[in-house]
Amino acid sequence: MNCPICNSNKKSNYRCEYKFEIIEDKKYFGDLEIYRCEECDFSYANPMPNKKDLDFFYENIYRLPYRPPYWFTEYQADSENKYLDDRNLNYLLYLSTLIDLKNITNIYDFGAGIGDLGYAIKKKFPQVNLFCTEYDKQCLNILNKRGYINKEIELLDKKFDLIITTHSLEHLTNIEIFNRFNEILKPNGFIFFEIPYCPEQYFSGRPYDGPHLLFYTKKSIEKISKKFDLEVIRVDTCSYSFLEDYKFQRESQERYYNIKSQVSFNFIKFLKKFIPQSFIKMRQSILNLKSVDEMSKLGLFTSNSDDNTYLRGILKKN
Ligand SMILES: [Zn+2]
Repeated sequence: MNCPICNSNKKSNYRCEYKFEIIEDKKYFGDLEIYRCEECDFSYANPMPNKKDLDFFYENIYRLPYRPPYWFTEYQADSENKYLDDRNLNYLLYLSTLIDLKNITNIYDFGAGIGDLGYAIKKKFPQVNLFCTEYDKQCLNILNKRGYINKEIELLDKKFDLIITTHSLEHLTNIEIFNRFNEILKPNGFIFFEIPYCPEQYFSGRPYDGPHLLFYTKKSIEKISKKFDLEVIRVDTCSYSFLEDYKFQRESQERYYNIKSQVSFNFIKFLKKFIPQSFIKMRQSILNLKSVDEMSKLGLFTSNSDDNTYLRGILKKN
Protein backbone atom coordinates (compact mmCIF):
# COMPACT_ATOMS: atom_id res chain seq x y z
CA MET A 1 0.00 0.00 0.00
CA ASN A 2 1.21 3.49 -0.83
CA CYS A 3 1.39 6.40 1.60
CA PRO A 4 -2.00 8.17 1.45
CA ILE A 5 -0.30 11.59 1.26
CA CYS A 6 2.54 11.21 -1.27
CA ASN A 7 1.05 8.14 -3.00
CA SER A 8 4.44 6.43 -3.03
CA ASN A 9 5.76 3.45 -1.08
CA LYS A 10 9.41 4.36 -1.52
CA LYS A 11 9.79 5.93 1.92
CA SER A 12 7.23 3.73 3.72
CA ASN A 13 8.30 1.01 6.13
CA TYR A 14 6.71 -1.33 8.63
CA ARG A 15 6.40 0.53 11.91
CA CYS A 16 4.63 -1.77 14.37
CA GLU A 17 1.74 -4.13 14.92
CA TYR A 18 -1.79 -2.69 15.08
CA LYS A 19 -3.36 -2.86 18.55
CA PHE A 20 -7.10 -3.16 19.07
CA GLU A 21 -8.90 -1.66 22.06
CA ILE A 22 -11.59 -4.31 21.61
CA ILE A 23 -10.03 -7.41 20.18
CA GLU A 24 -13.35 -8.55 18.69
CA ASP A 25 -13.23 -5.54 16.30
CA LYS A 26 -10.66 -7.48 14.31
CA LYS A 27 -13.68 -9.06 12.64
CA TYR A 28 -14.36 -5.77 10.84
CA PHE A 29 -10.82 -4.44 10.50
CA GLY A 30 -8.92 -7.58 9.56
CA ASP A 31 -5.23 -8.22 10.18
CA LEU A 32 -3.53 -4.85 10.18
CA GLU A 33 -0.05 -3.54 10.56
CA ILE A 34 1.06 0.06 10.82
CA TYR A 35 3.38 1.56 8.24
CA ARG A 36 5.10 4.92 8.35
CA CYS A 37 6.09 7.16 5.46
CA GLU A 38 9.30 8.86 6.49
CA GLU A 39 8.89 11.53 3.81
CA CYS A 40 5.50 12.65 5.17
CA ASP A 41 6.04 11.60 8.83
CA PHE A 42 2.68 9.92 8.47
CA SER A 43 1.60 6.49 9.73
CA TYR A 44 -1.27 4.42 8.41
CA ALA A 45 -2.93 1.06 8.82
CA ASN A 46 -1.93 -1.46 6.18
CA PRO A 47 -3.86 -2.96 4.51
CA MET A 48 -6.86 -0.67 4.98
CA PRO A 49 -10.08 -2.45 5.98
CA ASN A 50 -12.59 -2.77 3.16
CA LYS A 51 -15.30 -0.15 2.91
CA LYS A 52 -18.22 -2.53 3.39
CA ASP A 53 -16.94 -3.89 6.72
CA LEU A 54 -16.01 -0.44 7.92
CA ASP A 55 -19.39 1.07 7.02
CA PHE A 56 -21.07 -1.76 8.87
CA PHE A 57 -18.87 -1.16 11.90
CA TYR A 58 -19.64 2.57 12.11
CA GLU A 59 -23.34 2.18 11.43
CA ASN A 60 -24.01 -0.75 13.75
CA ILE A 61 -21.21 -1.34 16.22
CA TYR A 62 -19.17 1.74 17.05
CA ARG A 63 -21.74 3.69 19.05
CA LEU A 64 -23.29 0.79 20.93
CA PRO A 65 -23.77 2.11 24.45
CA TYR A 66 -21.76 -0.51 26.31
CA ARG A 67 -18.58 0.04 24.36
CA PRO A 68 -16.09 2.85 23.77
CA PRO A 69 -16.29 5.71 23.00
CA TYR A 70 -19.20 5.56 25.53
CA TRP A 71 -21.20 8.30 23.90
CA PHE A 72 -24.39 9.43 25.58
CA THR A 73 -23.22 8.57 29.00
CA GLU A 74 -25.91 10.75 30.58
CA TYR A 75 -29.51 11.67 30.05
CA GLN A 76 -30.22 13.74 26.96
CA ALA A 77 -30.50 17.01 28.91
CA ASP A 78 -26.96 16.50 30.19
CA SER A 79 -25.72 15.78 26.68
CA GLU A 80 -27.36 18.99 25.49
CA ASN A 81 -25.39 20.98 28.08
CA LYS A 82 -22.08 19.49 26.99
CA TYR A 83 -21.41 22.51 24.80
CA LEU A 84 -20.43 24.31 28.02
CA ASP A 85 -17.67 21.81 28.78
CA ASP A 86 -14.18 23.14 29.17
CA ARG A 87 -13.06 21.42 26.00
CA ASN A 88 -15.71 23.05 23.83
CA LEU A 89 -15.15 26.49 25.34
CA ASN A 90 -11.46 25.98 24.68
CA TYR A 91 -12.26 25.31 20.98
CA LEU A 92 -14.36 28.47 20.92
CA LEU A 93 -11.60 30.57 22.43
CA TYR A 94 -9.08 29.18 19.95
CA LEU A 95 -11.33 29.81 16.96
CA SER A 96 -12.49 33.27 17.99
CA THR A 97 -8.88 34.31 18.62
CA LEU A 98 -7.78 33.30 15.13
CA ILE A 99 -10.90 33.82 13.01
CA ASP A 100 -13.29 36.76 12.93
CA LEU A 101 -16.49 34.83 13.58
CA LYS A 102 -18.66 37.87 12.74
CA ASN A 103 -17.86 37.22 9.09
CA ILE A 104 -18.88 33.56 9.18
CA THR A 105 -22.24 32.64 7.64
CA ASN A 106 -22.15 28.92 6.78
CA ILE A 107 -20.52 26.31 8.99
CA TYR A 108 -20.20 22.62 8.09
CA ASP A 109 -19.20 20.02 10.70
CA PHE A 110 -17.92 16.71 9.34
CA GLY A 111 -18.60 14.00 11.94
CA ALA A 112 -20.44 16.48 14.10
CA GLY A 113 -21.47 14.29 17.04
CA ILE A 114 -24.02 16.54 18.73
CA GLY A 115 -22.55 19.67 17.16
CA ASP A 116 -21.38 21.41 20.34
CA LEU A 117 -18.94 23.81 18.72
CA GLY A 118 -21.24 25.10 15.97
CA TYR A 119 -24.02 25.45 18.52
CA ALA A 120 -21.80 27.50 20.83
CA ILE A 121 -20.79 29.73 17.91
CA LYS A 122 -24.41 30.22 16.85
CA LYS A 123 -25.39 31.29 20.38
CA LYS A 124 -23.05 34.24 20.07
CA PHE A 125 -23.37 34.80 16.30
CA PRO A 126 -27.00 34.05 15.39
CA GLN A 127 -26.40 34.81 11.68
CA VAL A 128 -24.66 31.46 11.36
CA ASN A 129 -26.26 28.55 9.42
CA LEU A 130 -25.28 25.09 10.64
CA PHE A 131 -24.76 22.04 8.40
CA CYS A 132 -23.26 18.68 9.23
CA THR A 133 -22.73 15.06 8.31
CA GLU A 134 -23.53 12.66 11.14
CA TYR A 135 -24.97 9.16 10.90
CA ASP A 136 -25.69 8.45 14.56
CA LYS A 137 -29.45 8.52 15.25
CA GLN A 138 -29.20 9.72 18.84
CA CYS A 139 -26.99 12.59 17.72
CA LEU A 140 -29.49 13.55 15.01
CA ASN A 141 -32.17 14.23 17.56
CA ILE A 142 -30.06 16.88 19.30
CA LEU A 143 -28.62 18.21 16.01
CA ASN A 144 -32.17 18.83 14.77
CA LYS A 145 -33.08 20.72 17.91
CA ARG A 146 -29.99 22.84 17.49
CA GLY A 147 -30.92 23.82 13.94
CA TYR A 148 -28.37 21.74 12.05
CA ILE A 149 -29.15 20.54 8.53
CA ASN A 150 -27.68 17.05 8.21
CA LYS A 151 -26.59 15.88 4.73
CA GLU A 152 -24.12 13.50 3.23
CA ILE A 153 -21.03 15.40 2.24
CA GLU A 154 -21.47 14.51 -1.44
CA LEU A 155 -24.94 16.10 -1.44
CA LEU A 156 -24.04 19.50 0.01
CA ASP A 157 -24.88 22.30 -2.43
CA LYS A 158 -23.77 25.24 -0.25
CA LYS A 159 -20.39 26.91 0.08
CA PHE A 160 -18.90 27.26 3.52
CA ASP A 161 -16.87 29.85 5.43
CA LEU A 162 -15.78 27.34 8.06
CA ILE A 163 -15.45 23.55 8.13
CA ILE A 164 -15.14 21.93 11.55
CA THR A 165 -13.85 18.40 11.95
CA THR A 166 -12.79 17.18 15.38
CA HIS A 167 -11.74 13.58 16.02
CA SER A 168 -12.95 12.27 12.67
CA LEU A 169 -10.05 12.41 10.19
CA GLU A 170 -8.17 9.63 12.03
CA HIS A 171 -11.04 7.20 11.29
CA LEU A 172 -10.80 7.58 7.51
CA THR A 173 -8.97 5.21 5.15
CA ASN A 174 -7.46 8.01 3.06
CA ILE A 175 -7.22 11.79 2.93
CA GLU A 176 -9.27 12.39 -0.22
CA ILE A 177 -11.89 14.20 1.86
CA PHE A 178 -9.69 17.29 1.55
CA ASN A 179 -10.65 17.42 -2.15
CA ARG A 180 -14.28 17.67 -1.13
CA PHE A 181 -13.47 20.23 1.58
CA ASN A 182 -11.84 22.36 -1.12
CA GLU A 183 -14.92 22.07 -3.34
CA ILE A 184 -17.32 23.22 -0.64
CA LEU A 185 -15.15 25.92 0.92
CA LYS A 186 -15.54 29.55 -0.14
CA PRO A 187 -12.31 31.29 -1.17
CA ASN A 188 -10.49 32.25 2.07
CA GLY A 189 -12.63 29.73 3.96
CA PHE A 190 -11.19 27.88 6.96
CA ILE A 191 -10.87 24.29 8.17
CA PHE A 192 -10.63 23.81 11.94
CA PHE A 193 -9.47 20.32 12.91
CA GLU A 194 -8.46 18.30 15.94
CA ILE A 195 -6.98 14.80 15.74
CA PRO A 196 -4.73 12.57 17.86
CA TYR A 197 -1.08 13.61 17.73
CA CYS A 198 1.03 10.58 16.76
CA PRO A 199 4.77 11.15 16.85
CA GLU A 200 7.27 8.50 17.99
CA GLN A 201 6.20 8.98 21.61
CA TYR A 202 2.62 7.97 20.78
CA PHE A 203 3.72 4.67 19.25
CA SER A 204 6.20 3.80 21.97
CA GLY A 205 3.62 3.80 24.75
CA ARG A 206 0.08 3.61 23.41
CA PRO A 207 -2.12 0.83 24.81
CA TYR A 208 -4.00 0.51 21.49
CA ASP A 209 -4.74 2.16 18.13
CA GLY A 210 -8.21 0.91 17.24
CA PRO A 211 -10.33 2.05 15.61
CA HIS A 212 -8.05 4.76 14.21
CA LEU A 213 -6.44 4.18 10.81
CA LEU A 214 -4.47 7.35 10.07
CA PHE A 215 -1.85 8.77 12.45
CA TYR A 216 -0.92 12.41 11.97
CA THR A 217 1.98 14.65 12.97
CA LYS A 218 2.69 18.34 12.39
CA LYS A 219 4.77 17.49 9.34
CA SER A 220 2.02 15.34 7.82
CA ILE A 221 -0.45 18.22 8.24
CA GLU A 222 1.98 20.48 6.40
CA LYS A 223 2.33 17.90 3.61
CA ILE A 224 -1.45 17.56 3.32
CA SER A 225 -1.86 21.33 3.21
CA LYS A 226 0.67 21.58 0.41
CA LYS A 227 -0.97 18.74 -1.52
CA PHE A 228 -4.41 20.35 -1.37
CA ASP A 229 -3.20 23.93 -1.74
CA LEU A 230 -4.24 25.00 1.75
CA GLU A 231 -2.44 27.53 3.91
CA VAL A 232 -1.49 26.50 7.44
CA ILE A 233 -2.69 29.27 9.73
CA ARG A 234 -1.72 27.38 12.90
CA VAL A 235 -0.96 23.88 14.15
CA ASP A 236 -0.75 23.29 17.90
CA THR A 237 -0.51 20.37 20.24
CA CYS A 238 -3.04 20.35 23.05
CA SER A 239 -4.82 18.34 25.73
CA TYR A 240 -3.53 15.67 28.13
CA SER A 241 0.05 14.43 28.36
CA PHE A 242 0.77 11.10 26.69
CA LEU A 243 1.05 9.38 30.07
CA GLU A 244 -2.35 10.69 31.14
CA ASP A 245 -3.83 9.65 27.83
CA TYR A 246 -2.43 6.11 28.17
CA LYS A 247 -4.10 5.94 31.59
CA PHE A 248 -7.47 7.11 30.22
CA GLN A 249 -7.15 4.64 27.37
CA ARG A 250 -6.49 1.73 29.70
CA GLU A 251 -9.44 2.73 31.88
CA SER A 252 -11.69 2.86 28.83
CA GLN A 253 -10.57 -0.61 27.76
CA GLU A 254 -10.95 -2.09 31.26
CA ARG A 255 -14.41 -0.63 31.53
CA TYR A 256 -15.49 -2.41 28.37
CA TYR A 257 -14.21 -5.78 29.52
CA ASN A 258 -15.70 -5.26 33.01
CA ILE A 259 -19.12 -4.58 31.53
CA LYS A 260 -18.72 -7.50 29.18
CA SER A 261 -17.89 -9.88 32.00
CA GLN A 262 -20.95 -8.76 33.95
CA VAL A 263 -23.59 -8.78 31.27
CA SER A 264 -24.56 -11.41 28.75
CA PHE A 265 -24.19 -9.88 25.31
CA ASN A 266 -26.94 -12.03 23.90
CA PHE A 267 -29.24 -10.52 26.46
CA ILE A 268 -28.19 -7.02 25.42
CA LYS A 269 -28.83 -7.84 21.78
CA PHE A 270 -32.21 -9.25 22.64
CA LEU A 271 -33.19 -6.14 24.57
CA LYS A 272 -31.99 -3.82 21.86
CA LYS A 273 -34.03 -5.60 19.23
CA PHE A 274 -37.29 -6.00 21.07
CA ILE A 275 -37.54 -3.68 24.06
CA PRO A 276 -35.87 -0.37 23.30
CA GLN A 277 -37.14 1.38 26.47
CA SER A 278 -35.86 -1.28 28.79
CA PHE A 279 -32.63 -1.25 26.91
CA ILE A 280 -32.23 2.46 27.50
CA LYS A 281 -32.81 2.05 31.24
CA MET A 282 -30.43 -0.82 31.41
CA ARG A 283 -27.87 1.17 29.54
CA GLN A 284 -28.07 3.88 32.17
CA SER A 285 -27.39 1.37 34.89
CA ILE A 286 -24.50 -0.12 32.97
CA LEU A 287 -23.05 3.31 32.50
CA ASN A 288 -23.27 4.03 36.19
CA LEU A 289 -20.49 1.48 36.52
CA LYS A 290 -18.17 3.85 34.77
CA SER A 291 -14.66 4.02 36.10
CA VAL A 292 -13.50 6.97 34.05
CA ASP A 293 -14.05 10.21 35.89
CA GLU A 294 -14.97 12.52 33.02
CA MET A 295 -14.78 15.63 35.18
CA SER A 296 -11.20 14.94 36.17
CA LYS A 297 -10.19 15.10 32.51
CA LEU A 298 -11.63 18.53 31.87
CA GLY A 299 -9.14 20.53 33.87
CA LEU A 300 -6.34 18.96 31.88
CA PHE A 301 -7.44 20.44 28.59
CA THR A 302 -4.61 22.90 28.19
CA SER A 303 -2.56 23.69 25.14
CA ASN A 304 0.96 23.82 23.80
CA SER A 305 3.49 21.59 25.37
CA ASP A 306 5.24 18.97 23.24
CA ASP A 307 3.87 16.24 25.46
CA ASN A 308 0.26 16.56 24.30
CA THR A 309 -1.99 13.93 22.92
CA TYR A 310 -3.94 15.96 20.33
CA LEU A 311 -3.05 18.06 17.32
CA ARG A 312 -5.25 20.99 16.44
CA GLY A 313 -5.09 23.69 13.85
CA ILE A 314 -6.60 25.95 11.26
CA LEU A 315 -6.05 25.67 7.51
CA LYS A 316 -7.18 28.24 4.95
CA LYS A 317 -8.22 27.92 1.35
CA ASN A 318 -6.38 30.34 -0.89
ZN1 LIG B 1 4.32 9.89 2.13
